[in-house]
Amino acid sequence: LTFIAAAKIASSLPPTRYTEIAFAGRSNVGKSSLINSLTRQWHVARTSDKPGLTQTINFFTLGNQLCLVDLPGYGFAFAKDQVKENWEELVQEYVTSRPNLKRVCLLVDAKWGLKPRDQQLIQLMESSRTRYQIILTKTDLLPPLDLARRATQILQILKDHRSLIQPLIMVSSKSGAGLSHLRASLARVVSG
Ligand code: GDP
Repeated sequence: LTFIAAAKIASSLPPTRYTEIAFAGRSNVGKSSLINSLTRQWHVARTSDKPGLTQTINFFTLGNQLCLVDLPGYGFAFAKDQVKENWEELVQEYVTSRPNLKRVCLLVDAKWGLKPRDQQLIQLMESSRTRYQIILTKTDLLPPLDLARRATQILQILKDHRSLIQPLIMVSSKSGAGLSHLRASLARVVSG
């Protein structure tokens, strides 16, 4: 896995050479942990540290055919309006007009479910017909029945959404549950 670019503004997005799969979600949803767990399974090491509160889109290439795109986490309670505006502008531009973006993995904390900011991003992806998939994270923290209820609830909310790719995938970076399933699903994006 090679770090290739960090974009702070839309004009600094890298060229559209690779198939891109983006990871989005609220801050603290477990995005860094998931990307790290996934790439460990690919036997590669991440070369760039998490940029913390810096609102950038980070691009990592994988095996010269795929690019993992780490979108800035949203929903910081303490984010300043200016930071929020920048985030929105950058992500909006990226998500709606990137021709080689084949899928957005929208990470949702299994415990909390969909929040307004998630719904906002979903609306954006629906209107631009960007294909996305819901990834329920931290599933180790919920009993199986609650987990099943959460999944059903989300699919019910999104049942008329045409850009949603089903099924929803449940993962835990901690236990490793669901990671091979997710990896197989992402591999199909590249091959298909
Ligand atoms: P990010 O802000 O979305 O990048 O989230 P992080 O990956 O930094 O994770 C936020 C917090 O959730 C950290 O304390 C992690 O240890 C914890 N976390 C992440 N993934 C899991 C998981 O699968 N299970 C549990 N129990 N905790 C997790």
